[in-house]
Amino acid sequence: MFITFEGIDGSGKSTQVRLLAEALEAAGHDVIRTREPGGSPGAEEIRALVLQGDPERWSPETEILLFTAARRDHLERTITPALAAGKVVLCDRFADSTRMYQGLSRGDLRAQVDDLHRLMIGREPDLTFLIDIDPAVGLARAKGRQGHEERFEDMGVAMQARMRAGFLELAREFAPRFRVIDGARAPEAVAADVLAQTQAALAG
Ligand code: C5P
Repeated sequence: MFITFEGIDGSGKSTQVRLLAEALEAAGHDVIRTREPGGSPGAEEIRALVLQGDPERWSPETEILLFTAARRDHLERTITPALAAGKVVLCDRFADSTRMYQGLSRGDLRAQVDDLHRLMIGREPDLTFLIDIDPAVGLARAKGRQGHEERFEDMGVAMQARMRAGFLELAREFAPRFRVIDGARAPEAVAADVLAQTQAALAG
């Protein structure tokens, strides 16, 4: 089963990926944790190209190509082999992040994102958790982190609010794959919710 986590910066996705991995492993599942952009050696190199240095280095269109190239490598080298081996794959961000960030943040490029996705990726997760959080809370959390790579924090709460609304809209578009989770609660409460929904999906 292929499970992804989405949400704005500071939503607590990465913590939830870790907590779900630990719970599933304790229950005897074979789990791999991965992330985007990145998740394979080649895709991690592309991550460095897009997330480090000048944010204006790539045009919005080139950025879509780079994220899609990274995703293709990640799928080929990491995700598809793990799924074929019967593992549960937990991924911190996937194509829904590109629909939002590359599709929405630098103009309306959703059609280009969708076209490339159909041509080069063509796969959706089985289940996606949208960890939903107030943008002011998310930004405060993201800024408090060590070694963070947030690209949009300087654009402030308004930008994050747009992304949050976009993710909620995406969750409606792709229901029932998407599960919207209230991320304002304590991490353990969020994790219990995520685990219950995952167990139900694994049993079904
Ligand atoms: O999820 P993570 O915090 O590792 O993401 C790092 C940064 O990259 C975030 O600021 C996120 O908004 C940005 N990002 C992006 N486009 C994506 C995925 C992430 O701009 N497709």
